[in-house]
Amino acid sequence: MGKVYLVGAGPGDPELLSLKAYRLIRDADVLLVDNLVLGVKRMIPEGKKVIDIGKTATAHKYSQAEINELMVELASRYETVVRLKGGDPFVFGRGGEEALYLKEHGVEFEIVPGITSAIAVPASFSIPLSYRGVSSSITIITGHEMEDKEENLNWGAIASLKGTLVILMGVGNLGKNVEELLSHGLHADTPVAILENGFTPDARIVTGTLGNIVTVAKREGVKPPAIIVVGDVVRLRAKLSE
Ligand code: SAH
Repeated sequence: MGKVYLVGAGPGDPELLSLKAYRLIRDADVLLVDNLVLGVKRMIPEGKKVIDIGKTATAHKYSQAEINELMVELASRYETVVRLKGGDPFVFGRGGEEALYLKEHGVEFEIVPGITSAIAVPASFSIPLSYRGVSSSITIITGHEMEDKEENLNWGAIASLKGTLVILMGVGNLGKNVEELLSHGLHADTPVAILENGFTPDARIVTGTLGNIVTVAKREGVKPPAIIVVGDVVRLRAKLSE
């Protein structure tokens, strides 16, 4: 029985892979790769066995159950199985579920953390998520809750934090999420930035306020993958990128 490495591939820039991730990519007998991992794919040596299980929000090529079963099956045939996931495997990447499945099926595994897009993409657009005197907390939430589950985000608590809010998978539900923040007391003039396709040639920032961002996003045709940053730190970008 082989071992499965759940490896964080970072936010898309191959230079932001950890040394360990890089070593494992080269040592792997087989790789399971998400399509979120962009330039990183080019780091995989030619001739490696690669299974692309990339999925988008709309079209699932592989279901999560199929991915889980595939990992166990590969571990029975190969010594080193590398499951390469965008960002960090334990930040909204379902890495926890995959690890638990492996555990329950008696497959040895190891988590290799990665640089999460939640922090790295804002940095690439000169937005520091924390800043003395401006924001002393960073809250990362998913804007796309499971549909078959009761809503469990406490918007009242989130809106009262006065820090920086980072929303992943939030483009589809932008209107609803903005509405929640406004109705729970955030000001309409709170700055918002939407960061599309970080670390790719298509990287783009769209800015506005809670009051106008839904209109602006629609006008600009904002699409996933994107990270939404809500809070006063968004204003620092102007100073840092002058
Ligand atoms: N585990 C990943 C997140 C997986 S959830 C991590 O730690 O980065 C997928 C979401 O991450 C996307 O919907 C988007 O909100 C965000 N995301 C990932 N890569 C991104 C990128 N390069 N640019 C913008 N957003 C990105």
